[in-house]
Amino acid sequence: MSTIDIPDQSAAVFGDRLQRAQGEMARSGVDLLVVGASADMRYMIGYPGHESERMSVLVLPAEGPAHYVVPGLEAPLLREQRDLIEIVPWEETEDPAAKVAAVAGIAARGTIAVSDELWSVFTLRLQRAMPEARWREGGQLLRPLRMIKDEREIALMAEAARRTDDTWAEFITTSIVGLSEWQVRERLLDLLAAVGLEPVFCNVGSGPNGASPHQTASDRVVAPGDAIVCDWGGTLQGYHSDVTRTAHVGDPSAEFVRAYEAVRTANQAALDAVRPGVPCQAVDRAARGVLAAAGYGEAFIHRVGHGLGLSLHEEPYLVEGNMLPLAEGMVFSDEPGVYFPGEFGIRIEDTVVCTADGGRRLNEATRDLVVMG
Ligand code: ZN
Ligand code: ZN
Ligand code: ZN
Repeated sequence: MSTIDIPDQSAAVFGDRLQRAQGEMARSGVDLLVVGASADMRYMIGYPGHESERMSVLVLPAEGPAHYVVPGLEAPLLREQRDLIEIVPWEETEDPAAKVAAVAGIAARGTIAVSDELWSVFTLRLQRAMPEARWREGGQLLRPLRMIKDEREIALMAEAARRTDDTWAEFITTSIVGLSEWQVRERLLDLLAAVGLEPVFCNVGSGPNGASPHQTASDRVVAPGDAIVCDWGGTLQGYHSDVTRTAHVGDPSAEFVRAYEAVRTANQAALDAVRPGVPCQAVDRAARGVLAAAGYGEAFIHRVGHGLGLSLHEEPYLVEGNMLPLAEGMVFSDEPGVYFPGEFGIRIEDTVVCTADGGRRLNEATRDLVVMG
């Protein structure tokens, strides 16, 4: 396993993120932001919170210090956050929603935003504890922050992508004939762990199952003549990799090769369309134009990409109708695909970062058609 030379996140980074979130709040007239255990929380204080039936929330006012209302038994985990936020533990017989209302102070009668991943049961309890507040979605406050990755975030994602590429290089050296999709999945997940990533997911679709883009895996046994779509990734310090490659077991048909080349060209066209200022939908259109021209327009049944970072799917979404302009530091997938029900599917996915000069791929696992045994 290679070691990485990426410095630890300093407390100053989180202080800055909290401050910028407060800036967004002030601009949108939000008095208080409540963030549940989630990637949002991890982004803001370096601790993801523990998702459970016990309320564990970051409470950020538009001005002044943030509080963390946390189950007492979880409080010791917040060692590194003590200089950043005030820890407010609650004991088993106390009501955490009342504690949030207490630290909210006057904001309890103002406008309160809740993060997208705060459990609805907690939102309902907070609403009962602060009946005079006006409630809003908080996702849009954090979106402009999380969407633009800093150098360290990009370095972590590049390293996660590079290691994931290594798992493909290793994977294609061995035969998969006779393995079930579950076993293929297991192999890729094991390879992710072997390169020091936290394995997160692996979707495997062989033969006709490849035409179902979100199938996890099945008992179907891989045989010569199958195309196989593998979509997998892991995390490095919370940051995701997400790559898809399609291989063929035994010699492919001319029809398959033609479709494969079209998808590969579409993947390149989407990359070439990336540049700061270009609307998200332009990247989708670039890939879609290639596939439509090749006669596969109907077979490309999903958007071309999604942002990723601390979450596997996050803003920006590269989809028709999204006029959000791309900006330097955005990281997203480029994943055109074609799906022929009952026959096969093909998808090629890379993670791409938008730089001042255009798109830069973080994945370089071969995009040549791999014929496996
Ligand atoms: Zn997906
Ligand atoms: Zn994927
Ligand atoms: Zn993806």
